Amino acid sequence: MSESLTIALSKGRIFEETMPLLAVAGITPLENPEHSRKLVIKTNRPEIRFIIVRASDVPTYVQHGAADFGIAGLDVLIEHGGEGLYQPLDLNIARCRMMVAALESFDYAFAVRVGARLRVATKYVQIAREHFAAKRMHVDLIKLYGSMELAPIVGLADVIVDLVSTGNTLKANHLVPVEQIMDVSSRLVVNQAAFKLKRSEMMPVMDIFRSACRMTDRQEGKI
Ligand code: AMP
Repeated sequence: MSESLTIALSKGRIFEETMPLLAVAGITPLENPEHSRKLVIKTNRPEIRFIIVRASDVPTYVQHGAADFGIAGLDVLIEHGGEGLYQPLDLNIARCRMMVAALESFDYAFAVRVGARLRVATKYVQIAREHFAAKRMHVDLIKLYGSMELAPIVGLADVIVDLVSTGNTLKANHLVPVEQIMDVSSRLVVNQAAFKLKRSEMMPVMDIFRSACRMTDRQEGKI
């Protein structure tokens, strides 16, 4: 049997949208992590396994060589810093937008115009810091780990920086998007050292992702 390859990814949207890409090459998990409590999931290919980790931990597992590959959102990669990682491929999955959002009653354009000092609640402090620094705005960043939408409602912050997909979560909490920071999608990441040592084993897996992405692009009429 050839040397084993480990792919780190998170449950939910990333797992669900990655499986069809691998299925193109006949690679399928033996269990569904949504129904199983197992954190190591075997596949029908003995040399390939998944490990199920928190989305924000994926780059750490790959950086330290505990996984050869990982699949992580651009947001997570920017916050992590990307040290020790190659990012060879945008898989174009789990697409959403990083937005600034505020209560419907908050006049963001006015606050920007008069140079108000804003309180910004977010999980994405690095992205928020760079965004407001580029706008030359002074902000107080308030780090949260979830439910950012609550912060403006209870007066903890003036605005939030968060991922928006359908916009339903913002709407349900009387928030509106006021500025787009970036488009976000998930990327394949590779441990740089593992890639040098195991290039011949890892290349075929990278090629599987690359050609699966090309097929999906074709189906979407992009090429
Ligand atoms: P939505 O109501 O569809 O706009 O989704 C917004 C909620 O889902 C927010 O709490 C976001 O943090 C989260 N979210 C949306 N898209 C993603 C994504 N691609 N990855 C992680 N979280 C996301």
